Amino acid sequence: IVNWPFSVTQRRKLNWVQLAGHKGNFKAADEGNILKKFSENEMQCFEKLRDDALLSFVPGYHGTVEKDGESFLHMTDLLANFDLPNVMDCKIGVRTYLEEELVRARERPKPREDLYKKMVEVDSEGPTPQEHSQRAVTKPRYMQWRETMSSTNTLGFRIEGIKKSDDTCRTDFKKTRSRQDVIQVFKDFVGGNDNIIKSYLSRLTDIRQALNKSEFFKQHEVIGSSLLFIHDHTSNAQVWIIDFGKTTALPEGQALNHDTPWEEGNREDGYLWGLQNLLHTLESVSND
Ligand code: ATP
Ligand code: MG
Ligand code: MG
Repeated sequence: IVNWPFSVTQRRKLNWVQLAGHKGNFKAADEGNILKKFSENEMQCFEKLRDDALLSFVPGYHGTVEKDGESFLHMTDLLANFDLPNVMDCKIGVRTYLEEELVRARERPKPREDLYKKMVEVDSEGPTPQEHSQRAVTKPRYMQWRETMSSTNTLGFRIEGIKKSDDTCRTDFKKTRSRQDVIQVFKDFVGGNDNIIKSYLSRLTDIRQALNKSEFFKQHEVIGSSLLFIHDHTSNAQVWIIDFGKTTALPEGQALNHDTPWEEGNREDGYLWGLQNLLHTLESVSND
């Protein structure tokens, strides 16, 4: 129970919402900032982004800190300037695992009952007759199947979660795949407010432009990164690029175009293709 009047800090804590990832991965920090569990990979990305065209589209990064014997990345809380924000996490790209994870998963592809159960929970018709009779699926099979259930493979992005200002929260989008379904979710998210859609479209267009200029983007396989959509009743609407936990540098001299289809070995992530589809989808939300 929180007593009225809220202090700014209390209000901020009530505001904070985490739509993906392990709950223990985030901690509150000083005013306007949060802590995310340290990863060497993500830290390196933030360091490289310090002088990149994408800098103004990623959360402010303030270095690493130690707390209770653990290391964290210290970054700006993107929700801090909002009053009762609506938040959506949209994961971009045609796959959400690294090529090297697929290779590793194939090394000893033992049939696993836990993955079979996870598959059946989402779709009882997911497993093949043979997998049903073994009551097991292998990890590479599970990884690739999962991307076919959502819009990841077909649109190059998927909705991970939404929290609305009325505190309703949904993360049950594992089977949200068709354009029509995605349009419906966005409509509901913005409450039919066309101005918010227009702000989102303009911000996404700026992001696309920055991506095309970015050296960082050229040189990285961007996997499992999200666009975080945030708006409130004042019509303040922003989009930010978050989560570089699996964003991986290419070997020196190599580059991706983020637009051509993925074939195993080419490391393409479909990021720009997904962003283009997302722009088109949002355009039809506002035209309907
Ligand atoms: P996963 O890899 O499973 O997606 P993760 O542990 O890498 O999770 P993130 O995806 O970076 O974590 O963040 C999880 C959630 O936390 C986001 O969906 C968003 O709701 C919230 N979040 C992350 N970073 C910020 C930020 N800088 N400001 C506000 N909210 C944030
Ligand atoms: Mg994430
Ligand atoms: Mg992550």
